[in-house]
Order: sequence, then structure tokens, then C-alpha cells
Amino acid sequence: MLRGRIVVAAVAAGAFAAAGQAMAAEQDQSDSQQDDSTPLASSQEAAASLGTATEENTGTKGSDGASAGVGGAAPSPEVLPVARTANTDDEVRKIAKSQRVERAREAAIREARQPDYVAPAEGTFTSGFGGRWGTTHYGIDIANSKGTKISSVAEGTVLEAGPASGFGLWVRVQHTDGTITVYGHVHSVTVQEGEKVEAGDQIATMGNRGFSTGTHLHFEVWNQGGKKINPLPWLNARGVNVT
Ligand SMILES: [Zn+2]
Repeated sequence: MLRGRIVVAAVAAGAFAAAGQAMAAEQDQSDSQQDDSTPLASSQEAAASLGTATEENTGTKGSDGASAGVGGAAPSPEVLPVARTANTDDEVRKIAKSQRVERAREAAIREARQPDYVAPAEGTFTSGFGGRWGTTHYGIDIANSKGTKISSVAEGTVLEAGPASGFGLWVRVQHTDGTITVYGHVHSVTVQEGEKVEAGDQIATMGNRGFSTGTHLHFEVWNQGGKKINPLPWLNARGVNVT
């Protein structure tokens, strides 16, 4: 009898490992799956591996007795496998839960590490930073249709949202490191001074106000010292490509 227990336990451990892997694979495919459904499936798998509860056992012939799937040599397999299967289910649930907790923890870490910078607008890059028409262009231009969403490129606080000479209407956002981003020629302003914004939050819509020769966003970056710097390498260094 003791020998029989060890054999059954070993088989159950194997089934348990297989079921654990199956669960991990299933959960990767669909995290929204009902928790209850998977342990049931693993219970059937474990039982099948032990030679019980197979289709043969419950088949239509029925005349050869109930132990067809087990064989005559196994000692009292009808009782032990049931108990072992219940324990295995518990272990599988525990492992599945710890895997879910671990995945949630990793997702939180990824979120915390994310630079959280986005492009100020979708559109066509039409003008870069630097000399232009005998003067200096202190930002970059992104052209698109009137009303296109303009986003804050990062988390920050709205410093100014309203009329500005040359810019028509502008929005200025101060970010947590002191950098200020400027969004000019906008058609409409959709935030107020003092408002907190996150990267990607809409702050304005694209327009053609002020000294502008077509609907576009004029985007500037002022560093901590108030100097207007080239926004392209600044954005590139933060994982944002504007082309
Ligand atoms: Zn411009």
C-alpha cells in the first residue's frame, strides 16, 4: 500500500506541474478569463493523468467494470487520486494567483518607468528649429487640419492659456523638471491656467491664428533657464519621434 501511495503521489505531482503550465499559457492568452473555469479544466487533466474519470470509464460498453483505465495492479486508486487531485487544485490555484500578483507587480514597475512623453500633435513635420527666412524659428511646425488634437507632451501644469502676440492663441505648460513647452497658433484652447495635465491630455486644437501661413502647430521647448531649445532632440531623447 505504501508503495502505491508514492506512485500515485508522483503521478499527481507530474499532473500538477503540467496543469500549472497549462494555466500559465491560458492566462497569457486571456487575462479576463473567469477564475473558476481554469481550475476545473486542470482538475479534469489531473484526473485523466491518473487514469480516472476518462471517457472510457464512463463509456457505453460498461460491461468490463469501472477500473478499465487504471489496470488491475494499482492498489485502491479510487480513493487516493480524489484526495490528491483536490490538493493539486489548491496548489494550482495558489501558483496561478501568485503568477497574477507577480504580473501585476511587473506591470506597475513598467508603468512607473515609462517616460510618459508623447508627440504634441499628429501631422506633417513642415519646419524645423533654427534659421529661416533671415530670422530664427524657435520651434518646430507640425501641420494638420483645423481642429486636430494638440496634446501636452508630458505631465505638468498649465501656466498660460490664451492670447499671445504673434502666436494668436497659445498654451504654455510647465513640467515637473521646470521645462516649459509652448503650443502656438492654436484654434481653440481646451484647458485653463493652473490646470494639471498628463502626457497626452488634450490642451488645444490646431489652428491658423497669429503670424501663421497655414493651419499648423508651432511647438517650442524652453529649458529650465528659459532658453528656447531645439524640440526635436529634446523629444527624441524622451522616446518621441516627430518626422
Ligand atoms: Zn513655427
